[in-house]
Amino acid sequence: MKKISPVLILALALFVSCNSSKETKTAMTNPFLKPYETPFEVPPFNEIEIEHYLPAVAEGIEQQQEEIEAITSNAEDPTFENTILALDHSGILLDRVTTVFYNLNSANTNPDMQALAREITPKVTAHSDNIMLNSALFKRVKAVYDKRASFNLNHEQLRLVEKFYKDFERNGANLSAEDQEKLRGLNQELSNLSLKFGENLLAETNKNFRLVIEDEADLSGLPEGVVAAAAEEAEKAEMSGKWVFTLQKPSLIPFLQYADNRDLREEIYRGYFMRGNNDNEFDNKEVLAKMVELRDERAKLLGYTNHAAYIIDNNMAKTPENVYDFLQKLWTPALEVAKKERDEMQAIINREGGKFELKSWDWWYYAEKLRKEKYDLDESEIKPYFSLDNVREGVFYVCNQLYGIQFERREDIPVYHPEAEAWEVKEADGSHVGVLYMDFHPRDGKRVGAWNTGYRRQAYKEGKKIYPVTSIVCNFTRSAGDAPALLNFDEVQTFFHEFGHALHGLFTDGPYRRTAGRVPRDFVELPSQIMENWAAEPEVLKVYAKHYQTGEAIPDALVQKLVNSGHFNQGFATVEYLAASLLDMDWHTQPFNGDVLAFEKTSMDRFGLIDEIIPRYRSTYFSHIFAGGYSAGYYVYIWAGVLDTDAFAAFKESGDLFNPELAAKFRTLLAKSGSDEGMTIYRNFRGQDPSTEYLLEKRGLK
Ligand SMILES: [Zn+2]
Repeated sequence: MKKISPVLILALALFVSCNSSKETKTAMTNPFLKPYETPFEVPPFNEIEIEHYLPAVAEGIEQQQEEIEAITSNAEDPTFENTILALDHSGILLDRVTTVFYNLNSANTNPDMQALAREITPKVTAHSDNIMLNSALFKRVKAVYDKRASFNLNHEQLRLVEKFYKDFERNGANLSAEDQEKLRGLNQELSNLSLKFGENLLAETNKNFRLVIEDEADLSGLPEGVVAAAAEEAEKAEMSGKWVFTLQKPSLIPFLQYADNRDLREEIYRGYFMRGNNDNEFDNKEVLAKMVELRDERAKLLGYTNHAAYIIDNNMAKTPENVYDFLQKLWTPALEVAKKERDEMQAIINREGGKFELKSWDWWYYAEKLRKEKYDLDESEIKPYFSLDNVREGVFYVCNQLYGIQFERREDIPVYHPEAEAWEVKEADGSHVGVLYMDFHPRDGKRVGAWNTGYRRQAYKEGKKIYPVTSIVCNFTRSAGDAPALLNFDEVQTFFHEFGHALHGLFTDGPYRRTAGRVPRDFVELPSQIMENWAAEPEVLKVYAKHYQTGEAIPDALVQKLVNSGHFNQGFATVEYLAASLLDMDWHTQPFNGDVLAFEKTSMDRFGLIDEIIPRYRSTYFSHIFAGGYSAGYYVYIWAGVLDTDAFAAFKESGDLFNPELAAKFRTLLAKSGSDEGMTIYRNFRGQDPSTEYLLEKRGLK
C-alpha cells in the first residue's frame, strides 16, 4: 500500500499552483493513491470515479519505473534481496489500479470505460515491454541466476529466481541486439497476422453467409423459439416474412439438430466449415501458413525445436511428446465409441427408410433423435430443484464439509454495482480468509460468460499476511414472475466451477507475488473443474437440490437421468475436441510444405479420424490458436479434465466424498500451487501420477 511520500506532497503542492482546481482536487482525493479505509481494505468502489484511473495508472507506472531504477542503479553486487525480491515487490500500485479497472471493464463497463481501456492498455503494455527489455535489469537478474547455487536460497527462493530469469529469456533478453531486433519484428508481424485472421473470420461468420428460407415447409422440425429467432433475424436483415439462419452457434446448432430438410442442413454446415477457405478476400489459408512459419522461426531463434516445445516448456506437460502421448490415450477409446454412435445413428436412418449414409451435417440431427430415445431429460423438470439460493447453499455446504470454512453476507462492504453481493469467508474458528463478491445476472455493461477474478491477490508484506479479495461474475437466468431465479444444470456446474477458481485464490498462500498461486495454463482448470464433480454427486444433490416450492429433495429418477445424460454423445464430443487438439499440435511440431488443406488432411488421416466427424475447429477458423492465446495449448481443457477426475476419484475411492485428510491435502495443493512444478504439486496430493481412466469412465468411454 502506498503512503504519500514527502516528494509526492511537494509535487502536489506545485500542481496546485499551476493547474485548474478541478484537476487538483482529483489528484488530492484519488482513492487509489491513499490507503483504502474500507472493511478489509477492499477497493472503495463508492469513491472511485472514472477520472481517477488515468492519473493513478500514470503514477503506478512512474512508481514502478523508479523501483526498477533503484534496482539497476544499486552500487552493490546483485543479490536475491536487492534484485529478485525488489523486482517481485515492484509495481504494487499499478497492480492495484489496473485490477479494479479491468475487472470493472468486464463486469460493469460503459463507452467511457471502453474508450479509457484503449488509452490505458497500450501504456501498460509498453511499460511491461520496457521492463522485459531493460538490459541493465536483466544483467542483474542473470547475475543472480548464474550464481544462484551460492546464495544459500531455499527451494521457493530458487524457483523465484528461475521464474524471473525465464521470463526474460523467453522474451529474448539473452539474444544479441541484432536478434532482438529480429524477434521484435517477428512478434509484430505475428500480432498483425493474428489480428487479420480474426477479422477475416468475423467477416466469414457474420457477413458472407446466411441461409434464407422463404418456404415455410423448409422449417419443418424446428422448435417454435428457433423459428421465431430466425424470423427476427430476417426482420433485422430487412427480409420480413422470411427466416434467416446464420453461422453463429445459437442459430446454427438448433438448425443442425432439428431441421428435417437434409439439403439445407448440408448447406448451412458447409457454410460453417468452409469459413476462411473460400478463396476470397477473407481467406485465411495464407495468413495461417505465414503464422506457422514465423512461429517456427521465433521458436528456433529462442533456442527451441519448434513452437510447441517453446509453449509447453512453461506448462505442466513440459514437452510436446507428453502431450501427444496423453492425447493418444484418450483418442483411441473415444474414437471407438464415436464409431458406435455413428452406427447407432445409421441404424435409425435405415429404420426410417432413408437410403443414404450418415454425413457430418447429419450428426446433430440423428444424435438428437438418439438422445430422445435414450436419455430424455426435460430441462423444465429439472430447474425447479435448482433455485439460485439453493445452489449457493449447495456450494457453501460442499466448501464447509471439505474445508470447514463459513460464509457471512456483509452489507457494510462496498460493492461496484447494487447487484453484486459481498461475503466474508472465514475459517472454522472464525478467523478471516478473504472477501468474496458474487454478481449473478446479465445486464448491459457486463460481458457474456462467467468468470472469477481477483481484486487483490494474497501476499505478504513485511511478514504480515495480506488477505485476498476475489470475485465471481456470471450471467445466470434471472427470476421470472413469482419464481426465484432457477438455474439449468449447466449453470449449476458453472457456479461450482467458478467457485473452485475463487477457492484457489482464497487459499493461495505463498511468500512471493511472482509465484504464489501462479500456475501454468494446463493446471488452471483443475481447482475449478474438480468442484463440478461434487455438484453432480447424487449424495450432494440430495442436500441442495430441493424444489423451490415444496422443499422436496430431487427424486432419484431425475438424479439418474442427470447422471445418464452425462454420457450422451460423448464419443463425438471427445473426438471432435481431440481432433482439433491434435491438429493444433501438428501445426506446431510437424514439417509444413505450404499447402494448408493437404497438411490438415494428412494430419487427420494420420490419426484415423472418421469422415462423419470434422475437427471442432478446422485450421482456417481455429481462432483459439491463430487469433487467441491457445496455440499448442488447445489440449489444456482435457488435460485439466483428466486431473480433476483423477483427483476426485481419490475422494470417491476413500469412501468419503469429504474425506478430511484428502481435503486437507487438496487445500495444500491449492495453497502451494505456484511454489513448484505443476506435476510435483499434483503428486504431492495424489501420491502418484494422474490417470486417464477416470475421465474415460466419467464420459462413458470405456
Ligand atoms: Zn475455469
